[in-house]
Amino acid sequence: MYKIIDGKAHSRGLREEIAAEVARFKQSAGRDIGLAVVLIGDDGASKVYVRNKIKGCEEVGIRSYAYYLPADVSQRQAEDVVAELARDPAVNGILVQLPLPPGLDAQKILSLIPVEKDVDGFCESNMGSLCMSRPCLAACTPNGVMKMLEREGINVSGKRAVVVGRSNIVGKPMAMLLLNADATVTVCHSKTTGLKDICLSADILVAAIGRAKFITADMVKEGAIVIDVGMDRDENGRLCGDVDFENVKDKCSYITPVPGGVGPMTITMLLYNTLAAAKRSAEIV
Ligand code: NAP
Repeated sequence: MYKIIDGKAHSRGLREEIAAEVARFKQSAGRDIGLAVVLIGDDGASKVYVRNKIKGCEEVGIRSYAYYLPADVSQRQAEDVVAELARDPAVNGILVQLPLPPGLDAQKILSLIPVEKDVDGFCESNMGSLCMSRPCLAACTPNGVMKMLEREGINVSGKRAVVVGRSNIVGKPMAMLLLNADATVTVCHSKTTGLKDICLSADILVAAIGRAKFITADMVKEGAIVIDVGMDRDENGRLCGDVDFENVKDKCSYITPVPGGVGPMTITMLLYNTLAAAKRSAEIV
C-alpha cells in the first residue's frame, strides 16, 4: 500500500514553524525580516507567483517589498533597482521573478544579487557551496523535496536515487542535495541511454522532466519512493506531473501527487531561505 506525500500539509506545518522562528528573530534582533520581489513586465503566470510569494510572506510575518517594473524597462534601470536592494540592510532576500521580458540580460541582473541575499539559491556561489557540501541557500524546489522526505521520516542515506532531469534550478541541485544526504545518485537527461533500467534501479526516483506522465509503471521498482516535480498539462489540459500517477502509485511505498505534492513546498522554502538569510546576517544561527 502506497502513502501519498501531502505537500500541502507539510507546507502548512513548515510555515507554522517558520512563523514561530520569525517572531523569535524579531524579538531577539529587534528588527524585521525583509524579502524584496522584483517583477518585470506583465506575464500572467509570473504575477500569480509573485502574489503568492507576497501572501506567503504575510502569513509568516516576513515583510515584503514588491517592485513592479514595466516590460520596456532598460537594462540599466533594472540593474539599478537590484543593486539598490543589494545595499539595503532591511532586505534579507532578493528574488527576481523569471522569465524576464526579451531584451533583458537576466544573468547580468541576477549576478547583482549578493550571495547572502540569493534566496532562490541560483547564483554560482551558492551552487558551488552546495557542490562542496558547505552551508548555502539551496534552490527552493529541490530543497523542498528534501524537507518533505525528512518530514516523512525517510532516511535517504545509502539509498539509490535517480534524478531524471539536469536543469540548474531543479535536477542538478536535487542530485547534489541527495548526494550530500549520502544517497548514491544517478542523473539522467535526454541523451541518457537505457533510461528505463536506470529508473528501475531507483529506491528514490525524482522526475523533473517537464513531460506529462513520462514515467510509466514499467519504469518503477516495487516499493520505490517516487517524487514528481513536473507541472505539465495532460491531453485534456488538466494539471498533471511527469509521472503517470494512476498507474504508478500501486508500485510505490511513497508518491507525491500533482497538484498538491512538490509544488506547495516551493514558496514555503523561499520563506525558509529568507529566514535563514536573516539569521545568518544577524549571526543568529
Ligand atoms: P527543464 O529546464 O526543461 O529541464 C528538463 C530536463 O529534463 C532536462 O535536463 C532534459 O534533458 C530532461 N529531459 C527532457 N526530455 C527527456 C527525456 N525524454 N528523457 C530524459 N530526460 C529528459 O525543466 P525544469 O525547469 O527542470 O522543470 C522540470 C519540470 O518541473 C517542469 O514540468 C516544470 O514545470 C517543473 N517545475 C516545478 C516546480 C515546482 O515548484 N513544483 C519548480 C520548477 C520546475 P536535457 O538536459 O538533455 O535537455
